[in-house]
Amino acid sequence: MFIAHLPAGYIVSKLLLNKKNVPKVNHKALLIAGMLGAVFPDIDMLYFYLLDNRQHHHHQYFTHYPIVWLTLLFGALLWKILKPNSIKSLLMMLFAFNGFIHLCLDTIVGDIWWLAPFVDQPFALFTVPALYNPWWLNFFLHWSFALEVIICLGAIVFWHRQRDIN
Ligand SMILES: [Zn+2]
Repeated sequence: MFIAHLPAGYIVSKLLLNKKNVPKVNHKALLIAGMLGAVFPDIDMLYFYLLDNRQHHHHQYFTHYPIVWLTLLFGALLWKILKPNSIKSLLMMLFAFNGFIHLCLDTIVGDIWWLAPFVDQPFALFTVPALYNPWWLNFFLHWSFALEVIICLGAIVFWHRQRDIN
């Protein structure tokens, strides 16, 4: 997934924050934490380009390991149970949940090593055939890119509705 992680993070975070049992405080900080989590796994692109000399698929770095994000998420849940009034645990929960959603969205057409580091086997729901050069054209001309555009448009519509409500 290329362009829809941040808008997806906005939609997911807003849907969670709009729930009745979520306290109506620090919503901006919680939204930022969620949107940061939605793009954070791709921070490994810096390592990929600057240090690793593009030797490995960036989805093979620990930042794209589901176990990392699930551990963070369960840690945040535990923290929330132990300290129910902690806003930091909510920030971490939003961040980790959106990081996990990032991996789910990447799995649509991109390989994710779901059982890493225990099993060296990538999984993807669909394969993008290599028909065009440069490589990224294959993704932009694939049906899955329409899904990305829909998520982006959905976030814009959602944002407008939220503005009308608030
Ligand atoms: Zn990614």
